Amino acid sequence: MKILVTGGTGLVGNALQKIHVLYPEDEFVFIGYNDCDLTNYMETKTFFKNIEPQCVIHLAACVGGLYKNMNNKVEMFEKNILMNYNVLKSCYEVGCMNCLSCLSTCIFPDKTTYPINEKMLHDGPPHHSNDAYAYAKRMLEIQSKCYNEQYGTNFICVIPTNIYGPHDNFHLEDGHVIPSLIHKCYLAKKLNQGFIIRGTGAPLRQFIFSEDLARLMMYVLKKYKSKETIILSPSEKDEISILNMGAIIADSYKYFNIIFDESFSDGQYKKTANNQKLLSILEDEFEFTPIKEGIEKTVQWFIDNYETCRK
Ligand code: NAP
Ligand code: GDP
Repeated sequence: MKILVTGGTGLVGNALQKIHVLYPEDEFVFIGYNDCDLTNYMETKTFFKNIEPQCVIHLAACVGGLYKNMNNKVEMFEKNILMNYNVLKSCYEVGCMNCLSCLSTCIFPDKTTYPINEKMLHDGPPHHSNDAYAYAKRMLEIQSKCYNEQYGTNFICVIPTNIYGPHDNFHLEDGHVIPSLIHKCYLAKKLNQGFIIRGTGAPLRQFIFSEDLARLMMYVLKKYKSKETIILSPSEKDEISILNMGAIIADSYKYFNIIFDESFSDGQYKKTANNQKLLSILEDEFEFTPIKEGIEKTVQWFIDNYETCRK
């Protein structure tokens, strides 16, 4: 099968690049912004026509942590709406019936009951801090279902929890919490300053290592028989606080001068997701990378690639 991976140069795209050798029967084409601007419909359609994919793994998105979401709402909404719209439409128009797209657990309703499951996605407004990104992503699920219903396509959506790993965006302001804190602790140690964690440290998150997610996405692509959206996440018991996450990062640098800056927002307190559906489709037990091991690998990758990585 010829598989086109949008967002192939990003965090998850690089993890897929690493594991795609496990699928020698498939031909993978990984693309980034420089290959095709997916916010441009004509460019996207022409590109898809030339590639003639049989399946698209749609990872490309305008992505960022809490503070990027709060400060760039127009960009988060418009770019994601455009990219998603153009990708699904182009898929259908060039005869590609299979598409697997990425949503996120941060797009679930803010006021909800826990644990959250797949059926609750549209049950109320998302948290105000990232509503622009969340509504754009929710429409991706709606658009996928519309194509499936009207044209019999196999456009499915997966919902990963917070992702981290090598090739992340380690930007101090725009990054997600793990890459931002890995960069901040690196600088704090180098300059012998406080390692500043924003907010109270109380919020809870489930984190998934990018290579685990890539393996699960390929599993869904190959084995999942349903078109219903599915959460890809470690278990509820693996949820940890930002405080504990900061401590794990501090430990991997052996630098413990931690300071909490509570003038910054905490964002959503938690978004605990239920992975029962995932567990029910896995044929063998899936070993998630333990968080300490994943953080060690990511910190080491960041140090080794400091000069050239996204930051
Ligand atoms: P990422 O590292 O920020 O990578 C984004 C990718 O999208 C890059 O390959 C980028 O290309 C591409 N891209 C951005 N704008 C584009 C445009 N206009 N045209 C074409 N390509 C464009 O993202 P990620 O963290 O791997 O996220 C992958 C997917 O998982 C996304 O759909 C995201 O919403 C979802 N997700 C992420 C997280 C998380 O914690 N990171 C959590 C849940 C869900 P260039 O590299 O060339 O710029
Ligand atoms: P979210 O999970 O979608 O909210 O996004 P993030 O990955 O950005 O995680 C946000 C949580 O981490 C919030 O509770 C923040 O207060 C906390 N946090 C602490 N320090 C930082 C930081 O330097 N950057 C980011 N993005 N979040 C931080």
